[in-house]
Amino acid sequence: MTEPLPIRRLQESLINRIAAGEIIHRPASALKELLENCLDAGATSIRVTVKDGGMKLLQIQDNGCGIRRADLPILAERFTTSKLSTFSDLSRITTYGFRGEALASISHVAHLSVVTKTKTETCAWKAHYLDGALVEPKPGQTAEPKPCAGNDGTTIIIENLFYNTPTRLSALRSASEEYSRILDVITKYAVHNPKVSFTCKKTGSPSPDLSTPSSSDVPQAIRLLYGHSIAKDLLHASFGSKKKADGDEDMEVDESEVQADGESWTADAHFTNPNYQSKKMLFLLFINRLISYRLVESSRMKRALEAVYSGVLPKGASPFIYLSLQINPRDVDVNVHPTKKEVHFLNEDSITDQIADTLQQSLASQMSILLTMHAD
Ligand code: ADP
Ligand code: MG
Repeated sequence: MTEPLPIRRLQESLINRIAAGEIIHRPASALKELLENCLDAGATSIRVTVKDGGMKLLQIQDNGCGIRRADLPILAERFTTSKLSTFSDLSRITTYGFRGEALASISHVAHLSVVTKTKTETCAWKAHYLDGALVEPKPGQTAEPKPCAGNDGTTIIIENLFYNTPTRLSALRSASEEYSRILDVITKYAVHNPKVSFTCKKTGSPSPDLSTPSSSDVPQAIRLLYGHSIAKDLLHASFGSKKKADGDEDMEVDESEVQADGESWTADAHFTNPNYQSKKMLFLLFINRLISYRLVESSRMKRALEAVYSGVLPKGASPFIYLSLQINPRDVDVNVHPTKKEVHFLNEDSITDQIADTLQQSLASQMSILLTMHAD
């Protein structure tokens, strides 16, 4: 029999690097975290600059609330956040972030620097981080944040991603493939946040590859980002369910009531009619549009909607679906997956069924309109 090996405590730096690997898989996953921070900070303009598919440089500039000078020393420590303080806050989460892990993780697998200015501060501050702590930018210099010129808001600069995790780096695809993943993440957030202006460009390139105006709306954003062929065949449905005092009949709900009444939810869907047929299903699902903006993958919901479309589309053809669900944060469990890719909510089966039914009915009536038109 083999002798048991002694159990040892892992070194702090190793623990942190392993934890970072769970959240930051590739440039696009770092960018997702940073975009969410900008939106949490109330930004109306988000500008992304990328070099080498984000492996050399990923820079995100926002015009949000900024970070207080006093908070900079602990900014990149693990579990430091301005968004959560008690366990019960978890059930009222209205922001994307809450764990305080993103910037910490990034600082363990890349060179992180921050330039930030709040409205009340007279100048901006620049700070550099490595392995969770402030670090001097060059040997001999101080690690303390330095005053500098800058606009209100925050710029996060990530350089040399995965410089210390060569296996991760070599698992990445080409710069162009990583860049297209970055564009895909921004596109989805831009559709869901049409009031916010997004741009994305490569360093040195004169014009952005993606650019959206501020104060737009979802259908316009879909047209701009996914093209006319999808936009011209879009149907729209806004619906929900709210338990009335005397029973549990469905009725139209006012979005502002969602938070007050735990049993209610609303859905806003933009989905293609049977005229549109794509090889691959494009499914954008957000849970809690007003209170927490989450980009999630729910395979159950996806399968249910695929089933609906399989009744109206020829075999092999797929739709485009944008679905934004608003559910009382009390009924949502966001703490299932470190990247929040998976989110669980109460009554998932029944809500899924009701959404599938509504889309089914809407598509069925559209089919009959189309048939009548062809008959004429
Ligand atoms: P979380 O978002 O879970 O709180 P992060 O590591 O992503 O954790 O960010 C830590 C904290 O840094 C946030 O709680 C927020 O206070 C601050 N922060 C990060 N990015 C920004 C930003 N772009 N604008 C303003 N504050 C930010
Ligand atoms: Mg965050």
